[in-house]
Amino acid sequence: VSVELIGSMGGDLSVVNAARVSFHKRSEEMGDRERGLVRFLMENRHGTPFEMVQLQFRARTPIGVAREWFRHRIGSFNEESTRYVEMRKEFYIPEPDACRAQVGKPGHYIFERHHDPEKVREMMGWAYEAAYLAYQDLMALGVAKELARNVLPLGLLTEFVWSVNLRSLFNFLSLRTSPHALREIREEAEQVEMLAAQVAPECMAAWGACGRRSV
Ligand SMILES: Cc1cc2nc3c(=O)[nH]c(=O)nc-3n(C[C@H](O)[C@H](O)[C@H](O)COP(=O)(O)OP(=O)(O)OC[C@H]3O[C@@H](n4cnc5c(N)ncnc54)[C@H](O)[C@@H]3O)c2cc1C
Repeated sequence: VSVELIGSMGGDLSVVNAARVSFHKRSEEMGDRERGLVRFLMENRHGTPFEMVQLQFRARTPIGVAREWFRHRIGSFNEESTRYVEMRKEFYIPEPDACRAQVGKPGHYIFERHHDPEKVREMMGWAYEAAYLAYQDLMALGVAKELARNVLPLGLLTEFVWSVNLRSLFNFLSLRTSPHALREIREEAEQVEMLAAQVAPECMAAWGACGRRSV
C-alpha cells in the first residue's frame, strides 16, 4: 500500500498569477501580498485559480480502497489491467491495531479494536491464499484472465495513476481525511496531503486555515 507523487505542474505562484490576470498584474515570487491573496481566494471560495495546479500520483492500494478513490470524478485515472496481465499475489492484511469491530447503528457506527487481531489476520490470509490458488488453477485450465479474475477479493492490491487539480484535491482531502472516512483511504489521503504540500505549500496552508473544506 503506497502513494507517491510522480509529477506536477504549477504551484503557489500559478494560483496567484491566475487570479492577478484579472488586474493585468503578475508576481515573480511569493511574498506577503501573494500569501494574502491566496488566503483571500480561499476564504471567499474563488476556486478556479486553484485548478491551475495539477498533480499526478501513483498509488498501490487494495481494490476496495481504489473503488472509493475512483468515485472522485474530477480527475483522471488509469489502472493496471486485470484482463491483460496476471494480477500479482499481493493482498492487504491490516496491522493488528487496524483490525476492528463495527459497533452501533447505521450512520452512527463506532469502530473498536478487535479482541483477536491475530485471528482476523490469519483468516484473511487463508481466504486470500484460497482465492489466489483458484485464480491460478482457472488460468491453468485455460480460462482467460478476464474471467479468472472474478474469484479475486477486494483486498487484492491494484495500482493506478491519478491526475488531479488542486481544487478537486481539496474536495478529495476534505472527504477522505475526515474521521468518517474509511481508515485505509484516510491513511492514503494523509500521504497525498503531505505530498501536495511540497508542490503548493501556501495553498495547502490556506486550505488548512480556512476549515479544510471544498472550495
Ligand atoms: C464517508 C463517505 C461515505 C460514502 N458512502 C457512500 C456510499 O455508501 N455509497 C456511495 O455510492 N457513495 C458513497 N460515498 C461516495 C460519495 O457519495 C462521493 O461519490 C465521493 O465522495 C466523491 O465525492 P464528489 O462527488 O464530491 O467528488 P467528485 O466526483 O470529484 O466531484 C467533485 C465536485 O464536483 C461537482 N460535481 C461532480 N460531478 C457532478 C455532477 N454530476 N453533478 C453536479 N456536481 C458535480 C460536485 O461539486 C463535487 O463535490 C461516500 C463518501 C464518503 C466520504
